[in-house]
Amino acid sequence: MFKKSIKAYKEACEVIPGGVDSPVRAFKSVGGTPPFIKKGEGAYLFDIDGNAYVDFVQSWGPLIFGHCDKDIEKAVIKTVKKGLSFGAPTLLETELAQEIVSMYKNIDKIRFVSSGTEATMSAIRLARGVTNKNDIVKFEGCYHGHSDSLLVQAGSGMATFGSPSSPGVPADLTKHTLLCEYNNISQLEKCFEESSDIACIIIEPIAGNMGLVPATNEFLEKCRELCNKHGALLIFDEVMSGFRASLKGASGILNIQADILTFGKVIGAGMPVGAFAASKEIMSHLSPEGKIYQAGTLSGNPVAMAAGLESLKKLKANPKIYEDLSKKAIKLVNGLKEVATKNGIALQVNTRGSMFGFFFCEEEPKNFKEVGKCNFERFATFHREMLKHGFYFACSQYEAGFICTKITNKMIENCIKTADKVMKGLKNN
Ligand code: PMP
Repeated sequence: MFKKSIKAYKEACEVIPGGVDSPVRAFKSVGGTPPFIKKGEGAYLFDIDGNAYVDFVQSWGPLIFGHCDKDIEKAVIKTVKKGLSFGAPTLLETELAQEIVSMYKNIDKIRFVSSGTEATMSAIRLARGVTNKNDIVKFEGCYHGHSDSLLVQAGSGMATFGSPSSPGVPADLTKHTLLCEYNNISQLEKCFEESSDIACIIIEPIAGNMGLVPATNEFLEKCRELCNKHGALLIFDEVMSGFRASLKGASGILNIQADILTFGKVIGAGMPVGAFAASKEIMSHLSPEGKIYQAGTLSGNPVAMAAGLESLKKLKANPKIYEDLSKKAIKLVNGLKEVATKNGIALQVNTRGSMFGFFFCEEEPKNFKEVGKCNFERFATFHREMLKHGFYFACSQYEAGFICTKITNKMIENCIKTADKVMKGLKNN
């Protein structure tokens, strides 16, 4: 059923490293060949072999309204006809900025970039520049893009000065990255005892890059408290959770406010976008107002702004969408859990708004190390079998899944029925 994709993958491998432009797409952790996508439509993806899949990835989050939403498509086409990029200010940027900042009490200004990586990298520079400190605290299993100082995940042990997790990143560039375990308060406290040079904590308040593992309220409160006490800034990386966990992302369902928020793919509704936002005091340090340099030729690209604006307007006009998405996410994971239990398979599930995760393990993982103990082989078999039956899940247990408005209850029920059959065969995995 994947004949054309197998051929396409071989050809791609000749000219693109590993055949893909972003590693996770290569299906390394589940095996097999990634289907090459021809088009998307609503809840569905269609590959070049003619297979159709219910898409639970939705471009890794951005497509809240599914593929080819008519309103977003219209806004994009209207904008495209006026030119693709100007490298000069447009009204669309201000309009999207106004729509976003008006939603939050703690942010007054936002700057648009072109990816989540740029957003977090710039937010860190801003935090360092504002506090005049060098160290940053990051947590194992949280992904903040692939900039040098954030590419540190390996090893546990707080205040281990981070060692890079990729060749090509000099240790000198990660020595200011202090690594702590997610949801581990005592490690975090120790980190602040050992360094008086901490500029910021950066955290995914709802981690979606080690499966779905939300931070506890207690842990986030401690992050806030330690930042206040030591003059550090708290950065919530909402590149994935922004506009997904709720209209205001994780910030909308927590009582804790960050100093800097980073956004990404979701505000572009499928176009390449990122952004970082903070109070006017913090943002006033940014060039050209202040001295901290940050720039981008395609930043605030009009087509991306138009897509984001239309998507956000639709979401704001109908906040009930979130109730519906979240009900569907719960229906899906509860159904999966039920058929897993029926088939004697241990499965842990979680949702936050339209984000969901499931783990083949006995107890709910609270951090990266615990996620590492899940049954990855079982996940891989489950993934492959579901794909064959027309259900496209994220191709790694370290990734979250997403519901879009075009996914119906019927599709979810069919998915659960299929999962029931697939799980019967998983016992010996
Ligand atoms: N932060 C988070 C929380 C993310 O999930 C991602 C991407 N998955 C990034 C940052 C990096 O974004 P991008 O891939 O657009 O550079």
